Amino acid sequence: MSPTLTDASGAHADPTDGLSVLEQRKSQAATFGIPLAVLAELTHRCPLQCPYCSNPLELERNNAELTTGEWKRVLSELAEIGVLQIHFSGGEPTARKDLAELIRHATDVGLYTNLITSAVLLTKEKLIALVDAGLCHIQISFQGSEQGIADRVAGLKDAHAKKIEAAGWARELGLPLTVNAVMHRQNLSQLPDIIQMAVDLDADRLEVANVQYYGWALKNRAALMPTMEQIEQTSGIVEEAEGRLKGILAIDYVVPDYYALRPKKCMGGWGRQFFNISPSGKILPCHAAETITGLVFESVRDHPIAWIWQNSEAFNRYRGTGWMPQPCQSCEFREVDYGGCRCQAFALTGNAANTDPACALSPLHEQIFKTATIESAGDTRLFIYRNFAGGTLETDVHGT
Ligand code: SF4
Ligand code: SF4
Repeated sequence: MSPTLTDASGAHADPTDGLSVLEQRKSQAATFGIPLAVLAELTHRCPLQCPYCSNPLELERNNAELTTGEWKRVLSELAEIGVLQIHFSGGEPTARKDLAELIRHATDVGLYTNLITSAVLLTKEKLIALVDAGLCHIQISFQGSEQGIADRVAGLKDAHAKKIEAAGWARELGLPLTVNAVMHRQNLSQLPDIIQMAVDLDADRLEVANVQYYGWALKNRAALMPTMEQIEQTSGIVEEAEGRLKGILAIDYVVPDYYALRPKKCMGGWGRQFFNISPSGKILPCHAAETITGLVFESVRDHPIAWIWQNSEAFNRYRGTGWMPQPCQSCEFREVDYGGCRCQAFALTGNAANTDPACALSPLHEQIFKTATIESAGDTRLFIYRNFAGGTLETDVHGT
């Protein structure tokens, strides 16, 4: 039997069952239509160890990952229910030997494909195979503008040089390129050089993303938190570059929450415009959602995706505005930012239903601003690297 709105089990039967869920009249899916783009975290394996990685602290092992056949079924199902674009991410998606096969399948079912990669495992031959399979776009992450800091943040020797080389191949093969640069106290001084690097690499787009502090980044907050002065300078640098490079390089800028007055509209609102799929097939409202304990996330192994999107208790818990406490409930911005980030509210207050402390109206806002000011002025420098062992403290090669 096809799962419907009244079918409490939602047991998995056929991808088209999901379509029937979306076609139910008066369904919530009509209000929160299926997202146009979805993030597929193919694996949590990664040769890099970035201290701000957005993967959960408890990484999923490779024996839990969806098989090639399961991912293909998921891709078909996504296309069937109206998704147009798939971002292949991780961990490092190129660690999956079946990546070209998955890209080909995504292409065959009509999805636009983007690869979000550290690029260190790519060879030119591998990239050609991905392009031949239909890859449409590539996003390469950089940890700095030069080898010293970049390799140190990545926790991998020669990572930076490999990224530069791979970016060159991407442009040679005609792939549109986005450079992603995650910024923090220890690399913000390189921002002008990173912007120039993106121009030199002939990138179409640069994402200047200040670290968001949950999961691994929260563990490393004292080593990463920028100073207020750095943030003021950054805004000026980005603004100047945006004007100067109009038509050459598009720049997206994500400001750090702790210094903001209003929170970001995280994920466009919980369960409104986005979901991602974990390596083992769990459907999550955002990539950090598993940091919130007590929420149960359903798997593509057990239910049609559209059924999960519509019926998942975890998705519905913070959808819309009905769940909001004060001051959000009576705030004129409640349908602008949807109360900010649930993961941040949980990380900083222990309750995901609280107002995001990044908001100046939160009773905790002043406290997080103070924390940011104190930590950014501190001398914590060493990183706790992200890995399957639960994190490893960087060895202080400089003896500082
Ligand atoms: S943030 Fe770094 S460690 Fe995490 S998946 Fe990306 S490249 Fe790997
Ligand atoms: S009180 Fe809530 S809705 Fe209002 S600005 Fe702050 S986070 Fe947004």
